[in-house]
Order: sequence, then C-alpha cells, then structure tokens
Amino acid sequence: MKEVIHNSGLVLDEKLLWEKGKKGRIGFSIPPQDVAVAELDPELVGEDPDFPDLSEVDVVRHFTRLSTWNFGVDTGMYPLGSCTMKYNPKTNERQASLAGLSEAHPFLPESLSQGALQIMYELEQYLMEITGMDAVTLQPAAGAHGEMLGMLLIHAWHSKKGNSRSKIIVPDTAHGTNPASAALCGYKPIPVKSDENGIIPVETIRELMDDETAGIMITNPNTLGLFEENIQEISEIVHAEDGLVYGDGANMNAVMGIVKMGNIGVDIMHLNLHKTFSTPHGGGGPGAGPVAVKKDLIPFLPAPRVVFKNGQYSLEKNLPDSVGRMTAFYGHFNVLIKAYSYIRQMGPDNLKKASRLAVLNANYIKEQLKDTLHLAYDRPCMHECIFSDKNQAAHKISTMDMAKRLLDYGIHPPTVYFPLVVHGAIMVEPTETESKEDIDLFIETFKTIAKEAEENPDILTSAPHVSKRRRLDEVEAARHPCLTG
Ligand SMILES: *Cc1c(COP(=O)(O)O)cnc(C)c1O
Repeated sequence: MKEVIHNSGLVLDEKLLWEKGKKGRIGFSIPPQDVAVAELDPELVGEDPDFPDLSEVDVVRHFTRLSTWNFGVDTGMYPLGSCTMKYNPKTNERQASLAGLSEAHPFLPESLSQGALQIMYELEQYLMEITGMDAVTLQPAAGAHGEMLGMLLIHAWHSKKGNSRSKIIVPDTAHGTNPASAALCGYKPIPVKSDENGIIPVETIRELMDDETAGIMITNPNTLGLFEENIQEISEIVHAEDGLVYGDGANMNAVMGIVKMGNIGVDIMHLNLHKTFSTPHGGGGPGAGPVAVKKDLIPFLPAPRVVFKNGQYSLEKNLPDSVGRMTAFYGHFNVLIKAYSYIRQMGPDNLKKASRLAVLNANYIKEQLKDTLHLAYDRPCMHECIFSDKNQAAHKISTMDMAKRLLDYGIHPPTVYFPLVVHGAIMVEPTETESKEDIDLFIETFKTIAKEAEENPDILTSAPHVSKRRRLDEVEAARHPCLTG
C-alpha cells in the first residue's frame, strides 16, 4: 500500500474581536489635529457604539485565521457528489471584474449596454447549442429556482391549451428540490421507484401517465450518477398523453458535447452554472440556473428577453404570455460573465473533453475502491459513483465514522447519506479538474480507513482527532446552536 501523507499542523484558535480588543489600541496614526475637539451631541448619536479597539495586526490576523477555518476547492479536492465542486479558473473573476462590466448599471440605456447584452445573448446561444434546445432564459438564480420556473412554464403551457392537470411524476433518483418545486407550484408530486439498475422503469411511467398528469421531471444523469437509458421512450409516453418532460440538467457536466437533451425528448431543462460552468457556489457570489426550452414554450419565458435585431441588442418586454419575472433585472449578470468566460476559453472540444474526464475520473474511483467499499450499482457510472458502508457494518463502522476519519487525513469527505435510495450512501464526484495523483491519494486514504475499520475501529468511531473540533453532537448543535464560536 502506498504511503498516505498525513496532514496536520497549526490549527489556530481565534477569539471574537471584542474579546481581543484593548482600550486605546489603534490601527493607524494620524497627525495631531489643529482644530478643537468637539464632543458629539449624545441626543444625536445615542450611546457610544460598542467597537473594539484593535491594531492593524490584530485585524489582519483575525480575518486571516478565520479564513483558514474554511475549506474550499482552492484548498483541496472536494468530492461532494451531486454538488460538482470543480475548480473555478481565476480568469473568470478577472473578466467579471472588468470595469465596463462590474460597474455597468442595470438602468443604463440599451444603447450604452450593447456589450453586456451581447454577452447575455451569446451565452444563451451557447447554452442552446449545448442542450439542443430552442431558447434560453438566464434569469433564475439557482437550480431550484430554474425548476420552479420550469413548473410555471408547464402550468402556463397547459393553461393556454385549456388543460387542467394536477400531478407531476418525480422519480426517487431526483434531487430533493424536484418534488419541492412541483409542490410549490401547486402540483402533487407522484413518486416513482427506480429499478434494480438505478433508472426509471418505462412500464411504471406507462401506468402512471394520464390526462391528470402535467408531465415528468427527469434528472439525467440522475442522482445515482447513472444515465437514464429509457428517457426517449419515456418522453414518447409522456408526450402521447399531452404531458411535458422537464429535464433536471444540474449534472450536465457529465454529458456536455456528448448528449443534447433536446434531441432525446426533453422540453424544458435547467442548468446549474455553479456546477457545470465553473461559477462559484455560494460564498463566491450568487448562483444562476438558466432554463432552456423547446420552441412551443418560448412565448411563456420570463420577460424581458434579450433579442438581436438589425445589428442591435435590446430587451424585449412586450411578451403577453410570459409567466413574468423571476429576478430583479436580468438575472445574476456577474455570474453569467464567469460562465461565458469559461465556455469561451474551453471551446466545444474542451467542453466535451471536460465531460469525458469527469466520467473517467468517477469510473476510475469506482473501479479502484469497489473491493474496499460496497458499490451500490456495479455498472458504468457517469460523473459520480455511489458506495455504501455495507462492507464495514460487520465492524460496526458507519459512513459517518469514515467521513469523520477522512478529516484526519486532510481530505474533505464526499456527500454522505444522499441519495436516500442507497442506505448509508457515500457519493463521490471527483470532477474533471483533479489530477491522477490527488485522486490516487483519495483512493489510498479510503483503503487505509477501511483497514483501520477492521483492525482498529475505535480510531474511526472517535474521529476526527486532529481537526479543530472533535466529533460534534449534531442533534444538540441543531437544537441549540451556539453562534458566537
Ligand atoms: C444541485 C442540484 C439541484 C439544485 O440546484 P441549486 O442550485 O442548489 O438550487 C437540483 N437538481 C440536481 C440534480 C442537483 O444536483
């Protein structure tokens, strides 16, 4: 077995600034004043503000130390299945901070916003090409927000036809947001169990699909990391009953340039720019979940839409059948620039290569670890693979114990206990941006932990040992959170 490098070292504690401050300490020096000191009028300012007195070095250390408590994809491999934590090229940030873009105001007239509108227009065109759909809106602020728009579009389309439908089919291999989005828009989600291969059984859809059902939500690849092989046949069944197929394209990073969802029956789909197109998750800025549609659904898209006519870009607001607006202005423009920058840098060949590498890396981990961890579905996977703690159960070691032990080895654990269809799931998504060396280190670490499970299980049940905090009482933390550190 290869040697596993243990990460340990300085784990710095940090107090609140109020606890660090010392009366009279100061962070800067200014020349003596040549005007008389005037007391503040207490009537106007109220009580003295409670600010700590700190030096520059106090402040710099405080925030630098806090920053080391954070783990991000810039720190190391972050193999969270379903989340696609791939490395985000720094050049995206540079493009997004160009003054002409970062300082553009949404109220600027169209004549002074041609560049910004062109970026949005072209990004829509690229996403249409990648998905095989006929139009795109960039407005939704996240994947789940895109799903919600999808449900509104399905509702608007049926209403226009005079159809009154109350149900949406949602397989158990969907992200939890799918049934939530359907329910939020007044539809009753009808669950479907995946078959022994982890995909949707055609016959069940044939039985369920009726004239009360507005459509189906299909995640492809699904949250088991498997390609929905029957999607075309399922789409035909749904379409034959005048239903629509919603494609959850959060996992498009597995099939870019390889499968066009529009060609295999999908009518509406969202993309997660913060998963597939290298824009930051959360802290690095808000998200974006553009929605792509087929021709028949274009009239219902949110207003305004970017159009290009007579050599000019403009915003079309007069859309009588539109479901309305999803966000203020035109979506999260700053995020859109980063995705545009990524797509332009990569080009079609490299986007395809990225998907192939994402799939290769996941299959490599699957093959290397399948004798160590129980593999939930022993068949080729897409961009992520799913194990469970079944093999370790004999030693009373759970997925949580192994995840906590990974922290001791300086590795961020994969997604655990999701998807719910796999008991004790360990869902690994390496992404295409990890090197073979880093992936091998992950594999070797898991093998080491599996050996520990047999020989020294106590070290797992009491892990983590070298992180800033030992194992937390999660129930207590959730019920009585202590928010002051
Ligand atoms: C992440 C994800 C979503 C939700 O996307 P958010 O941007 O987090 O709202 C929906 N479906 C799938 C399959 C996902 O992986």
